[in-house]
Amino acid sequence: MKKLFAPDASRIGRPDGSAQPDAVGVEHLGGSPAHLVRDLTGLLGSGQVLHRLSDLVRYASDASPYRLLPQVVVQPQDAGDVAAVFDYCRRTGRHATFRSGGTSLNGQSQSDDILIDVRRHWAGMTVENDGARLRARPGTILSHASAVLARYGRRLGPDPASADVATIGGVVANNAGGMRCSLPRSAYHCVAGITFVLPSGTTINTESPDAESSFRKADRIGRRPAGPSCGNTRR
Ligand SMILES: Cc1cc2nc3c(=O)[nH]c(=O)nc-3n(C[C@H](O)[C@H](O)[C@H](O)COP(=O)(O)OP(=O)(O)OC[C@H]3O[C@@H](n4cnc5c(N)ncnc54)[C@H](O)[C@@H]3O)c2cc1C
Repeated sequence: MKKLFAPDASRIGRPDGSAQPDAVGVEHLGGSPAHLVRDLTGLLGSGQVLHRLSDLVRYASDASPYRLLPQVVVQPQDAGDVAAVFDYCRRTGRHATFRSGGTSLNGQSQSDDILIDVRRHWAGMTVENDGARLRARPGTILSHASAVLARYGRRLGPDPASADVATIGGVVANNAGGMRCSLPRSAYHCVAGITFVLPSGTTINTESPDAESSFRKADRIGRRPAGPSCGNTRR
């Protein structure tokens, strides 16, 4: 008879079923490739580029069963920094992925190239209209926002069980929900306005009167012959 709790060693490991060691390969022992560190430090400043082996290993996992070692981790401070990284990706053919709280369950916040940490420098919020609206930066932790809104007798619609770690940016990007979150309260339905950076580097603020025309213009630029990919490229 098959033992109920005996692990099947052939099924432990990567999604394809092969068992692989977790140890990082010797080629990574020196951390990020030197030219990558030099280029990105030149763009963003040294404090915003994480390149030691321990940094790469720290960011190699999220809440999913997958594991990807990034080549380098950057911590932009504003939209201009994000646009600069996108521009670098276009020029060099590299790709980048955002990571915020890292609670995604399907590997969305992992990268095998440039990982962009949009949590570290991106917290903060302002309550508007007596709590009817919250203007939050994307790295704001969801439960922090809800705690602030509770003083006004309000809360945000999405309530994922990961709310103590997940952030506004990750919740909106994943359209996260939760046990008390009906469709009209899902993340997409709760967004009144958003500022985002396109892979072309154009920043759009949907609350601005010229948002539509800027987006249309930027979209036309984006349709020119395909360049290297930027943004979320995994799966
Ligand atoms: C214990 C546990 C319970 C969970 N419960 C639920 C649940 O009840 N409901 C539910 O829906 N989910 C749940 N999740 C999944 C996950 O927590 C949510 O999807 C959450 O919204 C992810 O937020 P994050 O900040 O961790 O984002 P991350 O995992 O860091 O990123 C999520 C995605 O958003 C992108 N992203 C992040 N920030 C930005 C940004 N600023 N701009 C553009 N893209 C960005 C990333 O590239 C990635 O694709 C759970 C996860 C765990 C571990």
